Amino acid sequence: MIDLHTHSRVSDGSETPGRVVELAAEAGCSAMALTDHDSLAGLEEAGRVAARLGVRLVPGCEVSCRKPAPPPGAPRIEGSVHVLVYFVEPGDGPLQNELVKLRGDRAVRNRELAARLEELGTGITYDDVLAEAGDEGGIGRPHFARALVKAGAVEDIDDAFDRYLADGRPGYVPKARLDPPDVARLAHESGGVAVLAHPLSTGLSPQHLERMVAELAEGGLDGIEAVYSSYSPDQRSVLRRIASRNGLVATGGSDFHGSFKPGLFVGTGRGDLNVPDDLLDTLEGRRG
Ligand code: AMP
Ligand code: FE
Ligand code: FE
Ligand code: ZN
Repeated sequence: MIDLHTHSRVSDGSETPGRVVELAAEAGCSAMALTDHDSLAGLEEAGRVAARLGVRLVPGCEVSCRKPAPPPGAPRIEGSVHVLVYFVEPGDGPLQNELVKLRGDRAVRNRELAARLEELGTGITYDDVLAEAGDEGGIGRPHFARALVKAGAVEDIDDAFDRYLADGRPGYVPKARLDPPDVARLAHESGGVAVLAHPLSTGLSPQHLERMVAELAEGGLDGIEAVYSSYSPDQRSVLRRIASRNGLVATGGSDFHGSFKPGLFVGTGRGDLNVPDDLLDTLEGRRG
C-alpha cells in the first residue's frame, strides 16, 4: 500500500512531517508522498524519519491552479483545480523557485485577508491566525477558519468558509496561481511529474471533466488522482477509465490533514483506500 497525498504542519495539516511518516509506517505503507501546499519544506524532516522506518518518501507538493477555460459545452468551472507534483526535491530549480514566489504571495494575501476580517468586525487578528499555524509561510484559509471558530464569529469550519472565506464571500482575497500546463512544464523541468488532484473538485460532469483532462494531457499532465478518500467505487472507476483513455496514470491518496480533516487516515483514507505499490514505478516512468 502507498499514499500519494498527505499534508503536514508545513501547510494546513495538524501533524509534523515526521509524524505523518510514522503514521504511514504504522498503516503499513511501503511509500508515501508528503504533498504540502506550495512547499517542499517538510521533506527533510520527513526523509530522516522515513529512512529510519524503512518507508520510501516521495518528495511532493500540491499547487492551487488558475482554472482552465471551461471545456466546450460546459459552464464555468465552479470548483477548484489543484495539481500534485512528485519527485521534485527541495533546493533550487524551476518549480522550486516558483514555489518560493507562491509562498511569498500567500504571505501578502494572508496579511490582507486578516485585515479584511478585522474590518468586517469578526474580532480576529493576524496573530490569532498565526497561532493556529506552524509558521507564517504555511498559513492557509483553514487556519483563518479555525481562528474564526475560536473567536466565536462562526459556528464551525464550514460556516467560516460559507460566510467569509469561500470565493465570492466578503473575506475572500485571491492569491497568485499558476496555470496547470505551467505546473506540468515546471515539474518536468525540475525532474518531476504532475497529477491532477481530486478531479471531481472541479465540479464538472464526467464528460466535461474528460474534455478538460484530455486538454491537460496535451499540456503535459501525467496522471489524475482516481483513488481518493471521499470517492465512491463508481467514481473511482469512472476516473480510472478517464485516465486510461487519455494515456494518464491513475494515482491515489488520502489527502490526510490530521485532526483538521477528521476521519481520514494515512494509507487507508476513510478505511477503504489501498493504493497499489506498483503505481509508483509507472508514475516514475513519466519523469524527465
Ligand atoms: P488557501 O490555499 O489558503 O486558499 O486555502 C485552500 C484550502 O482551504 C484548501 O486546500 C482546502 O483545504 C480549504 N478549503 C477551501 N474551500 C473550503 C471549504 N468550502 N470548506 C472547507 N475547507 C475549504
Ligand atoms: Fe489543504
Ligand atoms: Fe487539494
Ligand atoms: Zn491536498
